[in-house]
Amino acid sequence: MTQRTPALTDRLILRGGTVVDGTGAPPADLDVVVAGGVIVALRSPGGATESPGARVVDCTGWVVAPGFIDIHAHSDLTRLRYPDAATRVLQGVTTEVIGNCGLTPAPAPARGHDAFRAVIGTIDIAPGVDFSWTSTADFLDALDAVPGATNLVPLIGHGSIRYAVMGASAASIVSASMRGLSRESLTKSEEKPERSAWRPKATSSRGSSASPH
Ligand SMILES: [Zn+2]
Repeated sequence: MTQRTPALTDRLILRGGTVVDGTGAPPADLDVVVAGGVIVALRSPGGATESPGARVVDCTGWVVAPGFIDIHAHSDLTRLRYPDAATRVLQGVTTEVIGNCGLTPAPAPARGHDAFRAVIGTIDIAPGVDFSWTSTADFLDALDAVPGATNLVPLIGHGSIRYAVMGASAASIVSASMRGLSRESLTKSEEKPERSAWRPKATSSRGSSASPH
């Protein structure tokens, strides 16, 4: 991957931006000094010393904020194809929770691997990425082998575990007690219209136009 940014050991000064630090504190115009990949100082605008070799970015008129966390990402495979994660970073996202919607590239079945990859490809679109792993450990090793621009928080998909155990079988493995509790929860929420804004829906988010994919 082409190195586009300074090494983490470099000194970086974000000069004069409006800092919104995420704590609820009022915005403040500050210089932010970064060294070794961490914020080491906050100074009043113009107050940070430009040591030799420091990279200075004029942030006047811009907001400087901690990276955003995308809690619903499907970058499991695209991360391997596009490790610079430009579509995330350009939005300010620095951490992604991957493996959402119950489908993850691992665990994968040893038999029927092609069919499984086709299923995963419906939600984790990654042109040019093929894989043969079956275990989550091997998938995580593949991610580790391609250092990327964002932090990853991987989930393990229930759907993938189910597929690995029983393929595409429609047989139910959900216990009667779980099913009953789910039905009860949905029924009770329907009886309280004042909570309609957040009551659980019985439909799949994949079919919703408001889906955050
Ligand atoms: Zn999703």
